[in-house]
Amino acid sequence: MKALVYHGPRDLKYEEIPTPVPKKGEVLVKVRAVSICGSDLSGYKGGSAMRIAPLVMGHEFSGEIAALGEGVSGMKPGDRVGVVTNLYCGKCQDCKDGLQNVCDNRYIIGTTMKAGGYNGAMADYVIAPAEKIMSLPGHVSFNECALVEPLSISLRATKHLGDIKGKTAAVFGSGPIGLMAIMCLKSFGVSKIIAIDVLDNRLAMAKQCGATDGVNSNGDVPAEVRKLTGGLGVDIVFDAAGVPATVNTGIEIVRNGGTMMLVGMASPKMEIEYKHAVVKELKLLTSYMYTTEMREGLQMIADGKLDVKRMITSVLPMSDGPRIFEELAGGKSNEIKVVLTND
Ligand SMILES: [Zn+2]
Ligand SMILES: [Zn+2]
Repeated sequence: MKALVYHGPRDLKYEEIPTPVPKKGEVLVKVRAVSICGSDLSGYKGGSAMRIAPLVMGHEFSGEIAALGEGVSGMKPGDRVGVVTNLYCGKCQDCKDGLQNVCDNRYIIGTTMKAGGYNGAMADYVIAPAEKIMSLPGHVSFNECALVEPLSISLRATKHLGDIKGKTAAVFGSGPIGLMAIMCLKSFGVSKIIAIDVLDNRLAMAKQCGATDGVNSNGDVPAEVRKLTGGLGVDIVFDAAGVPATVNTGIEIVRNGGTMMLVGMASPKMEIEYKHAVVKELKLLTSYMYTTEMREGLQMIADGKLDVKRMITSVLPMSDGPRIFEELAGGKSNEIKVVLTND
């Protein structure tokens, strides 16, 4: 089969590799859509311990069942499916406590984890355990299904916020995770959502996704947010960027007693206005990955509650992978979500 194989920093080749054979309890999925994640890009640039070469990336995907391994029932070749890509151990204390998202023994399809590497879906075919298969309702497209994994990250973070009906929020970063967060916040009843980003085309997309206002971060963000909230600040800051400027501006624009949801991790280490956060009695929350949220997110799409496909800016053949990765890595692209297909 053909696959996009990551060989090292900025070295991705579309080449022939052996087609995997499903073992007991596994299925072979013919990939129909796989979207490029920001984490794939940082892996491509060589900055990620979660992408060790050689590796076929791709953890946001959908396809059709091509073959069943021994003992697999309840599905058949040709079935349209999505795949829950977090393969946790189910035995450790974290898993037993419902924290399968942070299981130390987990594999994530298309990445390298402590447990090892697991080839992903930037290929003609990918292997998945049968229990991770989600059947795809007929009216949900392959492209939409490929966006369920990033959606699940924003969905979990939004669920952590509790009852947020009628509240106000600011979202830093209008990339896929921030845009999905805007959709989730809106769907959970947040009445005012201020998108904050440095790119105007992303702010325009944020409004299409449900943001009530867009603020360019080149301007005076605290002043703009004060103006939009009657001087009070927002109840919730959702940080999908995670750099010192967003965290610290967030601490400034969130109201006293408000909540910061920290999801972005662009800066692994930073200095924050810690005292300011304490004396405002802020709730500092974090969220990582997902547990049950992929299945829940797919259901929300199937029910018409979220329109994730609007953030797909390009659909390209898999063979275009090396070119588009290099273009996206250049940092000057206007793309928001790029989906690769095998059609
Ligand atoms: Zn991702
Ligand atoms: Zn575990």
